Amino acid sequence: MADVFIALGSNIGDREGNIKTAIEKIKEKGIEIVKISDIIETEPYGYKEQPSFLNAVLWAKTSLTPRELLSILQGIEKEMGREKKFKWGPRNIDLDIVFYDDLVINEEGLKIPHPDAHNRVFVMGPIAQIAPDFIHPVLKTPVKEIFERLSKM
Ligand code: ADP
Ligand code: MG
Repeated sequence: MADVFIALGSNIGDREGNIKTAIEKIKEKGIEIVKISDIIETEPYGYKEQPSFLNAVLWAKTSLTPRELLSILQGIEKEMGREKKFKWGPRNIDLDIVFYDDLVINEEGLKIPHPDAHNRVFVMGPIAQIAPDFIHPVLKTPVKEIFERLSKM
């Protein structure tokens, strides 16, 4: 089974409820959850004129392939009524695959590690909390060190 890290974000409606509902739905799909980070509040990234986000990351084990996992997460986003708006724009739920073991995938529609994750405190912080020694497969650095560096910036 692969170790995967899924980032959850919400900045519309009942943000905490949305994150909890998404976690329940992920469990229902037979994805085994190892640990869930605290939920943190984050100022919007990229496009600033929108409400602040709640973010969390979960660590799970799965025998799904990366594509299968992506399509399950997209199905959950759809079930939860996520409308396709624009990149970095407001959303009731966003589910991103951050890491899938030490795989590096650069395909149309699927990039792992999630691009820019290493620059995002709201992704590195929660992973540093639940899996500080996980090595970023491209940077070859433990997540806790990436997070410490970001925190000093
Ligand atoms: P973002 O999360 O970058 O703000 P979206 O969630 O709207 O934006 O982007 C969705 C697109 O990102 C999907 O079409 C999906 O194919 C693509 N994508 C590429 N890599 C990943 C990944 N690791 N996890 C989730 N979606 C990804
Ligand atoms: Mg996304």
